[in-house]
Amino acid sequence: MDLKPYIRVIPDFPQPGISFKDITTLLNDGEKYKEAINAIKEMVSELEIDVIAGPEARGFVVGAPLAYALGVGFVPIRKSGKLPYETIEVGYDLEYGKDKLAMHKDAIKPGQNVLIADDLLATGGTIATSVNLVRELGGNVVGTAFLIELSELNGRAKLPDISVFSLAKYD
Ligand code: 5GP
Repeated sequence: MDLKPYIRVIPDFPQPGISFKDITTLLNDGEKYKEAINAIKEMVSELEIDVIAGPEARGFVVGAPLAYALGVGFVPIRKSGKLPYETIEVGYDLEYGKDKLAMHKDAIKPGQNVLIADDLLATGGTIATSVNLVRELGGNVVGTAFLIELSELNGRAKLPDISVFSLAKYD
């Protein structure tokens, strides 16, 4: 599908010079939201997926419906301090800022095939950290999937040995 008509581009948000891709306009359109999730489902149809993991918060609105559509489980990857049970944590740099991501220690069973989903691939810091967390738990990362990829930021370089699927690319 052509996703771009449903994405609102906001100049200089959250900082001057950043052109923010606002997916809330897509989420607001039930038919197109469903179409986008189904298009990702189609893109990853060759993969053997046991479970989907997604970083908060926008990774949930892509990963959870995708997991539902595929009939597999969903594992939330959260900011430090949000998960109630025992966690592992990894620090990372954002396109703007720094943070830590965490997963429950028992969220992935060793050897499970995991697809990691998020709304957008920018520098790749968030997804590379998510990959490290899943691997630390013994998961096998079979791919990463996004609505949007910001090609110029070359996030793929941080995922050299992993399949990257995206519905729309921006320069
Ligand atoms: P990265 O870690 O690849 O540099 O940044 C990607 C992460 O930041 C994703 O979790 C994504 O939700 C968020 N992000 C960065 N830029 C944008 C943007 O322009 N639009 C949206 N929707 N999310 C963004």
